[in-house]
Amino acid sequence: MITISKMLENNRKWSSQITKTDPEYFLRTADNQTPEVLWIGCSDSRVGPDQLVSLPMGSVFVHRNIGNIFATNDLNCLAVLEYAVDELKVPNIVVCGHYRCGGVHAAMQHSGIQPVDLWLDQIRFIYQNHATKLDQLDGDERWNRLAEINVEAQVHNICRNTIVREAWKRGQDINIVGLIYDVHDGVLKQLGLEFNSIDSWRDYYKKTAP
Ligand SMILES: [Zn+2]
Repeated sequence: MITISKMLENNRKWSSQITKTDPEYFLRTADNQTPEVLWIGCSDSRVGPDQLVSLPMGSVFVHRNIGNIFATNDLNCLAVLEYAVDELKVPNIVVCGHYRCGGVHAAMQHSGIQPVDLWLDQIRFIYQNHATKLDQLDGDERWNRLAEINVEAQVHNICRNTIVREAWKRGQDINIVGLIYDVHDGVLKQLGLEFNSIDSWRDYYKKTAP
């Protein structure tokens, strides 16, 4: 079992290893950060964003919650987006989901009044909106397809947000993509969504809106 003292011991080893390989690292990064990606992912413990894309420390500004939701009424999500776009000027925003997501599964199974149920209602609504097609699929296929549709919906939530739209209007470079990975092999796949301007998003949205 992991203990706090083991974690602290690991931390000291890690810190001295970094200092050994790059003596200036902590001095260089102590005053500011310049990440190139805002990563909105699931809280799932199996794989973290840094491992998935193998980028150096300092490259990824991270927001995670159950079901990788960008909730437009959630102050935490909005604060992260605002800081990443307006202050850090990240050129990339990634929404990353994963197959076999427990949050997505729960959203298909039941509802209730516990905080996690209320949070997952946001995926439940997406499921209901696509129920005709999703209900034609069998168990795992339906589960995985809903995970993909959920990523797509969150990408649209971000593109629809004033923080991003105003930045695009100012001419700020922001590329927004939806990715998903399989917990069986950790391989990422792009979901065909990529927007770098208000027009690119509007064109896609017009073509695919029901
Ligand atoms: Zn998940």
